[in-house]
Amino acid sequence: MGTRGRSIIGMDVDELISLLNKAFADEWLAYYQYWIGAKVVSGPMKDALITELLEHAADELRHADMVAERILQLGGTPLLEPKEWYDHTNCGYNAPRDFHIKKILKQNIEGEQCAIDVYSKLLKITRDKDPVTYNMALQILQDEVEHEEDLQALEEDLADMLA
Ligand code: FE
Ligand code: FE
Ligand code: MG
Repeated sequence: MGTRGRSIIGMDVDELISLLNKAFADEWLAYYQYWIGAKVVSGPMKDALITELLEHAADELRHADMVAERILQLGGTPLLEPKEWYDHTNCGYNAPRDFHIKKILKQNIEGEQCAIDVYSKLLKITRDKDPVTYNMALQILQDEVEHEEDLQALEEDLADMLA
């Protein structure tokens, strides 16, 4: 990265790159979990959920892109092998083996709650240390908070409908 851009970072850059690669693995796995969930989901209100899942998948892929760009700016390399995602992920991957809408909602809400924790921590770590990564983490966190809310609202609608 640019030498002045690097010099303003008040923390260990390699450690920061390693944290960003963990988030990068999370984003790809979240992308796939949403994408495949939209394919297999069944049950009432599934069309509304499919629309939401596909929007979220697109957001997660955009997040992976943002994180990869920041890793490269910092002089690092984004994980090159999909199999490495499993070694680095914070939030893991929850295969949607049960296709019922309730189960898929629950799994994705858990994923969003994990993502919210990951970016909250990244914000704390980079505050006053790396404004560029801080700003990126804040933008992503805003999306993850919206994702959780979207899914919990659908969960409530579904519960009302089934009541
Ligand atoms: Fe994300
Ligand atoms: Fe999300
Ligand atoms: Mg949404």
